[in-house]
Amino acid sequence: MPIDSAPCKFCGSNQHSLEHAQERMYGLGGQFTYQVCKSCQSVQLVNIPEDLSPFYPADYYSFVPLHRSGGRTKFLKKLRMSVFLTTGLSSIAPMYGYWLRKVHPGFSGRIADVGCGNGQLLYELHCAGYRDLHGFDPYMDQSITLEKGLTLWKKRLEDSELNFDLIMLHHAFEHMEDPSTILKACRDKLSPGGILLIRCPVTDSAIWQEKRTTWVQLDAPRHLIIPSVRGLADLGSRLGFELGEVEFDSSEFQFWGTALYEKGVSLRFAKIFEHFTPEQLASWKEKALRYNQEGKGDQACFYLRRPVRS
Ligand SMILES: [Zn+2]
Repeated sequence: MPIDSAPCKFCGSNQHSLEHAQERMYGLGGQFTYQVCKSCQSVQLVNIPEDLSPFYPADYYSFVPLHRSGGRTKFLKKLRMSVFLTTGLSSIAPMYGYWLRKVHPGFSGRIADVGCGNGQLLYELHCAGYRDLHGFDPYMDQSITLEKGLTLWKKRLEDSELNFDLIMLHHAFEHMEDPSTILKACRDKLSPGGILLIRCPVTDSAIWQEKRTTWVQLDAPRHLIIPSVRGLADLGSRLGFELGEVEFDSSEFQFWGTALYEKGVSLRFAKIFEHFTPEQLASWKEKALRYNQEGKGDQACFYLRRPVRS
């Protein structure tokens, strides 16, 4: 089948090489062709399936039911967040804490989570004391208010009437077709001085350079775009954002997930301890931390600010 190439969605270059990947999380196979930009090194899927729903079965992780906390747990989560925001102690950081401390919009700040899945992250923020929380996902069954001050909207961010102090995309950006459209929508919905936080895989990663199509976070064909740091930073700046810090936050998953794919094992059905020893996993954890410090982990957190005057 002929492949129609297009300019890089991040930098506009027409120079690229091709990689042919398969669906490996569920072992569905197929052939999915990615363009690798020779200028900025970002990656984009060329032959996007017209219907992606077969690649998001019911057990896909963002469809699992919300896990609610009891009163005592909520109290402890609130206390923990409050102490963490004050002290910055990493030993008590909530799992979403390290980035929240950098972008803390205040407990009454209005926060959006685009591609919010079941709303678990916003629910955790609600438990921690945040009171104006909004999730967006046009594919959910219906809009729902989970708690007072926490609503999941069955709509796109751009169709919301609201503006936000913080807009977050946690591993949602790479599932979208057009990075310019989503960045523009976020810019338009941010209050002046507001922050856009994007966490996504990046092609600066050593594991992508080494392993190519068995890299677990290539995740064909669900991942439609994967930027390089330069690709996303340049596009963000062209669209009017000020780029703050870029922080690598990869984990040992990049190594064990990729190792499973190299063995021909589907991720969804693998029992990790049957394949790897605790020592191997611990050594990968250490390696991931080192890679993050060296700027070659396989995912990063971007902090983009809408200027106060724009
Ligand atoms: Zn490019």
